[in-house]
Amino acid sequence: MHPKSEDEDRIRNLLLQNKAVLEKRVNTIHSHARNPLDADSGEQAAQLGNVAVVAALEKEAIEELTEIRSALQRLEAGNYGICTACGGDINSERLQARPASAECVDCAELGPSER
Ligand SMILES: [Zn+2]
Repeated sequence: MHPKSEDEDRIRNLLLQNKAVLEKRVNTIHSHARNPLDADSGEQAAQLGNVAVVAALEKEAIEELTEIRSALQRLEAGNYGICTACGGDINSERLQARPASAECVDCAELGPSER
């Protein structure tokens, strides 16, 4: 589906909002990673575990940010809502649930690569 222009504004705002939240989250994760609360050597194992969790969270947030940025680009280019894999329409429920979706349900489920 091709969003109408008032929808485009709404979607753009939504994406920008999500982007701001994620950017803030990434910053928070960064500062936590740089300033471990507890430098006690006895906590080292737990901290190593934490680092892995934090790195995974950061990776997730950064991937989501990348999706949102490309969704914004597609919005500007006028091909938002079009599947990047098959060129078909992405259904509106999917876009509502996940505004940064780049692929239609079928392509996302097939997932040629796990990225
Ligand atoms: Zn598709």
